[in-house]
Order: sequence, then structure tokens, then C-alpha cells
Amino acid sequence: MITIHRIIAVLEKSYTPPKSFLTHQSPFQLLVATVLSAQCTDVRVNIITQSLFKKYRMPEDFARAPLRQIAADIRTCSYFNTKARYLQELSRMIIRKFHGRVPDTMEELMQLPGVGRKTASIILFVAYGKREGIAVDTHVFRVARRLGLSKGTSPEKVELDLMKAVPREKWGELNPLFISFGRDICTARNRTCEVCPFRKECPSSNALGRKDLGKAGK
Ligand code: SF4
Repeated sequence: MITIHRIIAVLEKSYTPPKSFLTHQSPFQLLVATVLSAQCTDVRVNIITQSLFKKYRMPEDFARAPLRQIAADIRTCSYFNTKARYLQELSRMIIRKFHGRVPDTMEELMQLPGVGRKTASIILFVAYGKREGIAVDTHVFRVARRLGLSKGTSPEKVELDLMKAVPREKWGELNPLFISFGRDICTARNRTCEVCPFRKECPSSNALGRKDLGKAGK
């Protein structure tokens, strides 16, 4: 069976991803960008935040702005109405409850509207260097299942399995590594197993005629 140590070692040789693919200059900007990135590409989010961060610099700017204006300013993002509400509500909570600073604990971050474990894990690792969880997005979910690291059918279950298997000092690094690999080789559609370094041992290897275990429900 393929070990997590080998997977990480091989991927670290192939990729040197940034801690986050989202452009940001502060924990608050990272939080805004991560909330926007749900069901939206990082490329799109980085285009949106280029102008957004010139107009909205602090939580106070989102707290004061008319909700309709925020929605208009992020309208090219998926679910822009819902995300505009999240941005305003989380900004108000940061001002009211956390003295204007993005909190640095899982418990406090998850109190913010629109913030779940995935977003909180990213903020904790990227902004504060804390490894409290493993951010399971669509790439991490698919790659972990394909490689047989989890049979979980929800991000929460996959995260639990990964937290047991992956050494804690790699919890933060796993997300950008799996994203890089998931975009490059182990892609959602048409995975390119024939060029994959794990093709001879992966339980989903197309090169061995195995079925795709990546999607839950299969
Ligand atoms: S062998 Fe195929 S399914 Fe398995 S990790 Fe590589 S690309 Fe993904």
C-alpha cells in the first residue's frame, strides 16, 4: 500500500506551491479572499480582490457599505449575494467581538459567518502558522479518496482520516500540495494516470484499469 510519507515526499519534489494561491496582504484580506473562493476559482477571486481591496481596506469598510454595493463589487463571483452578506456580517463581528482583528483560534474563527473548518484551517496556517486542521477542498477530497487515504463521503470525515494519517507538521502544507497535484495530474476529469508517479500502486490508477474512487457515492 502507498504510504502518506511517500506521497508527500514525491509531491514535495514535484511542487513548491505557495501557502495560499489567493493574493493577500493581511489576515483580513486572506479571510475575505477565502470566503469568496468557495465554489469559485482562485484565478477569478484574485481578479475580483485586485480592485476590491483598493476600495475595502478594513473590516469597517465592509461594515459600513450598503450590502447591495458589496454584492455589486463582487458580482462576478459565484453566490455573490450570499458572500456579500457574509463579508458584511463577519466584518461587523470582527469589529464588535474581536477588536477589529481576525481571530487566531479555530473556535473563534468558526463563529464568523461563512467560515467553516476549511476556511478556518487555511487562515490559521497561512496567516498565523498554526496547524489545527487540514483544509479539505474539492481537490484534497478527490485526491485523498483516489489514493485510498480515506473512504469518507464528506469533507469532515476525509479531514479526520487525513489528520490521523498525516504527520501534524505537514497538515498545513498538504492542501496546496494536493491542489497542485490535483490541477496538474490527478485532475477531476480525465485524470492522467499514465504520467502519474503513483500509477503502479494507486487504488484508482487508470493505468492498472482501476475504477475512480475519487467521487463520493461511487
Ligand atoms: S494514479 Fe491516477 S488516480 Fe491515482 S493519484 Fe495518480 S492520477 Fe490520481
